[in-house]
Parts: sequence; structure tokens; C-alpha cells
Amino acid sequence: MAQPVSAQPLVHLAFIKLPDTNTSSTNTDHRPPPVPSSSDVIFVDHSKPFTITVDDGYSRPALKKLIALKKQYRSSFTCLLFPYGAALKENKDLFAQLIDLGCEVHNHTYHHVYFRNTTAEKERDEIVSADRVIDDVYKLANQKRPGTKYFRPPGGFYDQNTIRICKEMNYKIMLWNVITEPNGKNLSVEERAKYITSAPKGSIILLHSKEHDMDALSKALPILLKNYGTSGH
Ligand SMILES: [Zn+2]
Repeated sequence: MAQPVSAQPLVHLAFIKLPDTNTSSTNTDHRPPPVPSSSDVIFVDHSKPFTITVDDGYSRPALKKLIALKKQYRSSFTCLLFPYGAALKENKDLFAQLIDLGCEVHNHTYHHVYFRNTTAEKERDEIVSADRVIDDVYKLANQKRPGTKYFRPPGGFYDQNTIRICKEMNYKIMLWNVITEPNGKNLSVEERAKYITSAPKGSIILLHSKEHDMDALSKALPILLKNYGTSGH
């Protein structure tokens, strides 16, 4: 049975706050702007044909669809999951299965907090609390955590404290260059699939744990795999 999680309903915006740059205009598009000469934040990963990332993790039906896709395609595509801690805690069983099928689970804060005017202490607390739940799920799956840990800030908001804390905790910040909900629009499965299939090689594609996005992924995967090949591990 699908259990709603106790965290707040989610609205996905991405007004990216650049660290220490004098941005005069607010970025209201859903695409993160490029950060010049920063190895602190990742937008694309050219070491892979493409990377599928799935945020939030509150929908059990969507997670079950992703499990079915991973069973079908196995390790032919890279899949990183960014559930927020509360959602991960309530769906540990499904996330353990996804780890078993080759997905990686990474950090998206515990309460899905947008880091806007957030104190460094609160930011650290959010990341550390989620990190503990991730440890628990890897234990449940009886697997080792990946060597590289990623943090994806909800909404794409981060600041200099986030960068510092992530460095201290050995996390890399992963954003994205393709999203199926540009400007937060609720698009159809077909429209979502079009965004995924038109992703350039090396893209980090942001989906959410929604059935619409999993259905779109199901349509788009054969095309991406044909165009760019498998991730080969
Ligand atoms: Zn999110």
C-alpha cells in the first residue's frame, strides 16, 4: 500500500543561487546556469552516455515502476536516486531493492529544505540526518555505499556554506542540465519523454518519483540507449 510520507508537499522550483557571483538577474528558468570554473558543482557527466537521476522518493507506485525498468534494463543505464531522508525512511524496502538492482542512493536533505537564508548549522543537520538514513538503507541492502557521495540541494538552492559543508563531508554537489518539468510545468508523459530523448550526450537528467516521469523514462530509454549506448558496467 502506498503510504504518504510526513514531509511537506513538494513544489519544484529551481531558482539557482550562484555562489559568490554577482548575478544581476534572477534565473527563473528551470535550467541551472553554468558555474564558471567550479569543480564544486556538477551539471553534466561526460564519463557516462547519460545519467538518470530521480529525486524525492515519496511515491511507492513510481518507485515500483522504476524497479520494473531496472529489472528490464539492468545496468545498461546509470541511475542515481536522490530521495529526501523522510521519504527514504518510509520506503526503505523499495530503495534497498533499487540498490540491489544497481541504483545508487544519494543525499537530498532530510526534510526537503530549500537552502535559502538557511543557517550553516541547519544545512549541516539536514545533510547529516539524511546521510544516516542512507547508511541504514545500504545496510538493509547489505551493500557498500558508493565511493563518491553526491548531494543534490532541493530546488537547486545552495550557497557557500553548502559548498564548504559538502567538501568537509566528502560530498560532491550534483545538479542537472535536463529536466522534465521546465518552469515547474506539469507536462504529459509524451512531452516529458521528449525532454529526455533530446538530452545531449553526457546529460544529467532530472526526473521525480512520479508515475508520469517513470512512464516517460520507459518510452525514452530505448531511444537514449540506441543513440548513446549503454553505461557499460
Ligand atoms: Zn526534490
